[in-house]
Amino acid sequence: MSKVIIIGAGGVGAVVAHKCAQMPEVFTDIVLASRTKSKCDAIAAQLPRPATTDQVDADNVPQTIALLKKHKPDLVINVALPYQDLHIMDACLEVGVNYLDTANYEPPDQAKFEYKWQWAYQDRFKQAGLMALLGSGFDPGVTSVFCTYGRKHFIPNIEEIDIIDCNAGNHGQPFATNFNPEINIREVTARGRFWQDGKWVETDPLSVKSPFIMPEELGKLKIYLMYHEELESLTKHIPGLKRARFWMSFSENYLKHLEVLGNVGMTRIDPVKFKGVDIIPLQFLKTLLPDPASLGPLTKGKTCIGCQLKGKDTAGNDSTVFIYNICDHEACYDEVRSQAISYTTGVPAMIGAKMMLTGKWAGQGVFNMEQFDPDPFMSDLKLCGLPWKVMRQPVFTAPPH
Ligand code: NDP
Repeated sequence: MSKVIIIGAGGVGAVVAHKCAQMPEVFTDIVLASRTKSKCDAIAAQLPRPATTDQVDADNVPQTIALLKKHKPDLVINVALPYQDLHIMDACLEVGVNYLDTANYEPPDQAKFEYKWQWAYQDRFKQAGLMALLGSGFDPGVTSVFCTYGRKHFIPNIEEIDIIDCNAGNHGQPFATNFNPEINIREVTARGRFWQDGKWVETDPLSVKSPFIMPEELGKLKIYLMYHEELESLTKHIPGLKRARFWMSFSENYLKHLEVLGNVGMTRIDPVKFKGVDIIPLQFLKTLLPDPASLGPLTKGKTCIGCQLKGKDTAGNDSTVFIYNICDHEACYDEVRSQAISYTTGVPAMIGAKMMLTGKWAGQGVFNMEQFDPDPFMSDLKLCGLPWKVMRQPVFTAPPH
């Protein structure tokens, strides 16, 4: 018997709700709460079994405490925005509820990936006998599990990690983001950063790129070096790493729009006076862009996200593996009425929750995904819609940079 509260009723929240509803033996009761209750009601109406809905402003800690006291869940699945992470963690500590999210905390006025704010909760969660699982989406999330799986079964001494996130899908819109536009654009316009020989090396935003040929004849894309939050936790938890990088594909069209929007100041996150009122240009832009949840019926094509791991195998020989998933936008829509980006995030959030509620992953304190045994999570990925494969050869050689 377990009750979960899903906070956030966007593209990802909808997938988490669908996937939890498909597993009544684990998720006995589901509560869906968000800032706009009507969005929770619309999702609940699509589910194969009843779910309770509620309203909450998760930036308001007393309100979130009241929500948790009212519903008494075993676990909060936070799929609202990164700005809410600390507030929801505070409420969980106050009421004594376990916590899971898919994206690390970001202060609204600084576009910055850093775990320091959430890692600072380690002692409080430990003392309260509670568990917080951070970053249980695809990237971060499955990417870390791919790394630990590769380390456990193929390359015990990993020296290099390249995480490659490709979206070969097309939604036919002039410009749209596949998840929350504000968070997406903050991430993409940030400076690049990778781990090399024990220190971080910075690059100008999207200045390092490489062609990438996707497996299974999915085609060729350009991928760009970016900073991504799992690099911070992987370099902490996997000893001996010499290099760790993250790459993401973007279409020429997306980059052209982003450049123009950046040039005219529409991606700024500092307040600007407009008719006597302070507005944040990026938040205004978000209100104009398509809601990512609306892209579900429009998006065709596939995503391919994987980790290339290089190092020494158990015999001490050089070895390379690529562990990856391919996900079809239209198949996701047929199953849960969402495109693959929301799907590939929502499914691992549900599996992370299942790991916690069934005790397969257990602990007291704040944890990242690579701190647990990857095997039960990898088995569930196959069973729950995100099958993966292992190629025992290199798929990618980055240009010198
Ligand atoms: P959406 O913008 O579609 O949905 C966000 C939801 O959170 C909305 O329902 C919104 O409510 C709600 N919300 C926002 N602020 C509050 C608040 N103060 N209190 C309560 N609810 C609030 O985003 P996505 O579904 O695309 O993304 C959700 C999360 O998933 C994000 O944190 C994103 O960074 C993360 N993500 C992680 C990925 C991974 O692989 N790890 C990949 C993609 C996304 P309202 O509708 O009223 O605005």
